[in-house]
Amino acid sequence: MSWEENVRKVIPYTPGEQPKIKNIIKLNTNENPYPPAPAVEKALKEMDPSDFRKYPDPNCSVLVDAISDFYGVSSDKIFVGVGSDDVLAMAFLTFFNSDKPILFPDITYSFYDVWAQLYRIPYEQIPLNEDFTITPSDYFRPNGGVVIANPNAPTGVELPLSDIEEVVKRNPDVVVIVDEAYVDFGGQSALPLIDKYDNLMVVQTFSKSRSMAGMRIGFAFGCPKLIKYLQDVKFSFNSYTMNIPTLTLGALAMADREYFDKTRQMVITTRERVSKKLRELGFEFADSSTNFVFARHPDKSGKEIFDELRKRGIIVRRWDSPRIKEYMRISIGTDEEMDALVAALKEII
Ligand code: PMP
Repeated sequence: MSWEENVRKVIPYTPGEQPKIKNIIKLNTNENPYPPAPAVEKALKEMDPSDFRKYPDPNCSVLVDAISDFYGVSSDKIFVGVGSDDVLAMAFLTFFNSDKPILFPDITYSFYDVWAQLYRIPYEQIPLNEDFTITPSDYFRPNGGVVIANPNAPTGVELPLSDIEEVVKRNPDVVVIVDEAYVDFGGQSALPLIDKYDNLMVVQTFSKSRSMAGMRIGFAFGCPKLIKYLQDVKFSFNSYTMNIPTLTLGALAMADREYFDKTRQMVITTRERVSKKLRELGFEFADSSTNFVFARHPDKSGKEIFDELRKRGIIVRRWDSPRIKEYMRISIGTDEEMDALVAALKEII
């Protein structure tokens, strides 16, 4: 017998590339093209490294309180983690312990099946409709939990809040996770529903609308009982998940509502302008409620367009899986970056 027989073998999630080369236009990981709120830069410069001698606050209070103030939700309904990936990973571990399969769409955030495999959670992937919409009644069958990204990724398509509510209401015996990584770019949040349904968990992130993917901050809302269960698992795993600069800078970023509204509106305005131009070039895609568009062209393969863009220093994201291989997911950058993208596509098409 070899020790390898007892290894937990997994096929890991593949994150979008972070290229080392300079002078590229990076539209592949849905980062925000604008810097974080101005207070973040100032506080970073004033930080005293001597403070790093100490462990950070395991309860992350300064950050939790800032989120609490921003959303008007009490602190006992808030959980924070190292990006929403960490929050979601903790949630899968905490809530999905049934013999029945958890349910999520076939086309969605490709980390969900990786966590399910890592934790040995049975799962079933429910096919999206041809137009990438979700039929809520597909999620009314017996299951061990439900995960829906809303708006969905990489499609950019939003499920109306009334449909989300229906899924939560019809599944009172399991936890329903709504992953709202992109909700600030035009989606409707399920946050108001946490007081009505104790089985609902709403997950958000600082990585997109708050321009802080590199700081790794995610957070979740749920009823106090649900949050307590998550805390118990987190504190059985790693008490100090978030470091001192992250807690301080995250709280400052959260506090600046004006900057948040301004920059997400800039992204939305650019998305609408670019969507129109892409459609003029013949690209086909559903209206996006996110900071990306998921588009294909009837005359050129996804791979060809992807490769041609790359040759011109523009990096987008593409998956080689059957239903979506002709599509590219294009993150919304600055107006200048998007104009360069459109110019390159004019050459390619
Ligand atoms: N959920 C979805 C749907 C995403 O696209 C992403 C970004 N990769 C995440 C969660 C995780 O984001 P983060 O860990 O940066 O918060």
